[in-house]
Amino acid sequence: MTDLLSDLAATVDASGILTGDDIGPRYTDTRGHGSAGAPACVMRPTSTAQVSAILKLCNDAGRTVVPQGGMTGLVGGGTPGDGDVVLSLERMNAIEEIDPTGRTMVAEAGVVLETAHDAADDAGFVLPIDLGARGSATLGGLISTNAGGNNVIRYGMTRQSVLGLEAVLADGTVLTSMNRMLKNNAGYDLKQMFIGSEGTLGLVTRCVLRLQSKPLTTSTAFVGMDDFQSVIGFLSLLDSKLGGGLGAFEVMWSEYYDFVDERCPSLKPPLPAEHKYYVLTDVLGADPESDKERFETVLEMAHTQGLIQNGVVAQSDADRDDLWAVREGAGEGFRAIAPMFTYDVSMPILTMDDFATRAMADIEAVFPGATTLILGHLGDGNLHAVVAVGEGSGESHRKVNDILYGIIRDLGGSVSAEHGIGTEKRDYLSWSRTDAEVEVMRMLKRTLDPKGILNPGKVL
Ligand SMILES: Cc1cc2nc3c(=O)[nH]c(=O)nc-3n(C[C@H](O)[C@H](O)[C@H](O)COP(=O)(O)OP(=O)(O)OC[C@H]3O[C@@H](n4cnc5c(N)ncnc54)[C@H](O)[C@@H]3O)c2cc1C
Repeated sequence: MTDLLSDLAATVDASGILTGDDIGPRYTDTRGHGSAGAPACVMRPTSTAQVSAILKLCNDAGRTVVPQGGMTGLVGGGTPGDGDVVLSLERMNAIEEIDPTGRTMVAEAGVVLETAHDAADDAGFVLPIDLGARGSATLGGLISTNAGGNNVIRYGMTRQSVLGLEAVLADGTVLTSMNRMLKNNAGYDLKQMFIGSEGTLGLVTRCVLRLQSKPLTTSTAFVGMDDFQSVIGFLSLLDSKLGGGLGAFEVMWSEYYDFVDERCPSLKPPLPAEHKYYVLTDVLGADPESDKERFETVLEMAHTQGLIQNGVVAQSDADRDDLWAVREGAGEGFRAIAPMFTYDVSMPILTMDDFATRAMADIEAVFPGATTLILGHLGDGNLHAVVAVGEGSGESHRKVNDILYGIIRDLGGSVSAEHGIGTEKRDYLSWSRTDAEVEVMRMLKRTLDPKGILNPGKVL
């Protein structure tokens, strides 16, 4: 290893390699998902050529490599094991170019999402990929996990914003596929292999992202309703009457809303806690004169049709922040019930209430008195579940996994809507994918990384 370490050190400048006590907690923080080993070193290259040289050396030596971005992943995908070489893209953080005519941004993989947002904003555009970890998550990490987050109903997952990318294969081969066009059907679309494959097929070093026009208005409402058919009816009504402007459609089951009402004194739940479902919706528009009136007319229509029982409309940005905090800011309540197990699953929208009802009943049957809270991006078919059973043992975690993923399998859903598989869900990949699908994944892995050095033990 000493020879390899000195060869690796020769590929970068003095601050491009960390060993021993210089390896800070950033590189081993698992966010509670599994446990990290002691990496042999952390490589912090500043160019694609350096990434290529590092990978070639590691591949020749059969040394395993763990790619890292902002380390905000929630499934243990960036967690190193003993003796791994960590390859962090944190110093490849340049925004190379914004093309206002082609509406593209060219950037290195280590650019933090918020920095990319600011650059797009300065140029008069919006980069629609957005999530709570925007201050740390990097473009390379977002691409490698095909992150979802806010706005997916309108703009799609990260995949839909990636026009091109550059990746380095396990043996150091640089695959430059920096397409800038919306249309390019010249053969296989190779970039797709690196989007969502969690660093197991190659290292993403640069990317071309698609920018969008800025919406000029955002109208936000928080409503209460009493049956799930009405929730679906309300989604259809907004979708059909507002010209495709739906930006978010978030649903909270009453157990979650009651929890916020009782356990989160700093939040301001806007409605009496008397409904079975609550929906928070954003509608994006381009006409400051009439968008608000049109939105309120559709809400009135929903009320007249009996879809919604009660509701409030944000009158200011501060109102809007307060409404979104009810959906996103329940941390103080969660801390009080920790340890807890969190889930990120998807399923056909029509089956969501069935999922929630079965999940709560089946968990209660095994863990009487457990807390099970369900909420999520209903418009995207994606729900989150938070489960607290009073202790956080591996055995209880597995029992809750088996219950929830078992229901997901019955409903034809996915054990991972947006966070990926990492190490956390590896045992459950086959619950959402056929044997043939998993075998083709293994074929790809064997072809692109025959020695299995890239992110071992993740996904497959
Ligand atoms: C508060 C909070 C909110 C979040 N909200 C959402 C959400 O709404 N939606 C969502 O989808 N996720 C969410 N996440 C999860 C996380 O932010 C995303 O998975 C994000 O894409 C990870 O980016 P990162 O740069 O931190 O990657 P890391 O955590 O460093 O790595 C994630 C995975 O990608 C690999 N990887 C990283 N960089 C590269 C690269 N350049 N090339 C190849 N592989 C690489 C790693 O090996 C690992 O497998 C949230 C996390 C937090 C903490």
